[in-house]
Amino acid sequence: MSEVVYNRVALIGLGLIASSMFWAMKRRGLAGEVTGYARSAETRETARRIGLCDRVCDSAAEAVEGADLVVLCVPVGVMGPVMTEIGPLLKPGATVSDVGSVKGHVIEAVAPHIPDGVHFVPAHPLAGTEHSGPEAGFAELFDNRWSLLVPVEGSDEEAVARMRALWEGMGANVDEMDADHHDLVLAVTSHAPHLIAYTMVGVADDLRRVTDSEVIKYSAAGFRDFTRIAASDPTMWRDVFLTNKEATLEILGRFTEELFALQRAIRTGDGDHLHDYFTRTRAIRRGIIEAGQDTAAADFGRAHKP
Ligand code: NAP
Repeated sequence: MSEVVYNRVALIGLGLIASSMFWAMKRRGLAGEVTGYARSAETRETARRIGLCDRVCDSAAEAVEGADLVVLCVPVGVMGPVMTEIGPLLKPGATVSDVGSVKGHVIEAVAPHIPDGVHFVPAHPLAGTEHSGPEAGFAELFDNRWSLLVPVEGSDEEAVARMRALWEGMGANVDEMDADHHDLVLAVTSHAPHLIAYTMVGVADDLRRVTDSEVIKYSAAGFRDFTRIAASDPTMWRDVFLTNKEATLEILGRFTEELFALQRAIRTGDGDHLHDYFTRTRAIRRGIIEAGQDTAAADFGRAHKP
C-alpha cells in the first residue's frame, strides 16, 4: 500500500482536477492534511458540505501556511497572480506545482515568484471530463492516465521524485517532458481537437436554425462526441488558447492544409486519396487502444437500449 508522500498539501482552486486529486490522495493515504481554497464563497461552502479537503480556508494565505506541497489548480490565466499572492508565505523547502494544461506560459508566469529555497515542479495530468467545479471530481480520474512532469531549469531531483511518487500513488503513469515539447504535443492531441469540436458544434447550431431541431434529434455518435468535448469549461479553454497561441496556430495551419486537400479529393472524386487517408487514421485509433488509452468497445462502450 502507499504511504504519506507529503504531510501537508494545499490545493488552490477546488474544481474538477483539485477535487479528483483530493479523493485520489485520500484513497491511498498519500497526504497527511489537505487544505483547500477557492475564490468564491459558494465553492468553499460546497467543498465543506461534501467533505472536500480536511480544512477549507477562506484565504489562499491561510491554506498555504505550513504546506509542504502547494498545487495551483486554477485556470492557466490566473496562475501568475495567485502565485504572486502566496509566494512570500511559503515555507522553506516546500514544493509548488500546478496542473495547468499549458506549460510554457505557466512557467513564465509562476517561476519568477518562487522564493529561494522553494521548489517548483510543474505538472499536467492528461485526464479530465467536460464537467467542472468541486462536485465533478472522483478518485479514479487519473487511473492509468498519463501525468507529465515538466521540471524547470535547476529543479531539485528529490522534489521531482516526490511529485512522481504522488502522481503514481494517485494512479497515473508519469513521464517527463520539456515545456515547448509539451505545448506542441498537447496542441495536437488536445487543444486543436477542442477548437475543432467547438467549431463543429457552432456550425451545427447555426444549421439547427435552418433545419429546426433535426441536428439534435438525429445526432449520431460522431456529432454527439463533438458536443461532449464542446461542453468543456469556457474559462479554462479560453485561457488555453490565449496562452498556447503559437503551437495551436501551427497545428491549425497544418489542419487547414489537410482539410483543403481532402476537400479537393472530394471535389475531384479522388477516392484513392480518401481511402488511403482513412486507412492511415484507422491505424492510429488501433494504436491508441493497444496503448491502453481507450476502449475498443463500439461507441466507447455506451450502453444501448435493445
Ligand atoms: P474548474 O473545475 O473550473 O475549477 C477551477 C477552480 O479554480 C475553481 O474552484 C475556481 O473557483 C478556482 N479559481 C478560479 N480563479 C481563481 C482565483 N483567481 N483564485 C483562486 N481560485 C480560483 O477547473 P479544472 O477543470 O479543475 O481546471 C483547473 C486547471 O487544471 C486548469 O489550469 C486546467 O487547464 C487544468 N486541467 C484541466 C483539465 C480538464 O479536463 N478539466 C485537465 C487537465 C488539466 P470558483 O469555483 O470559486 O470560481
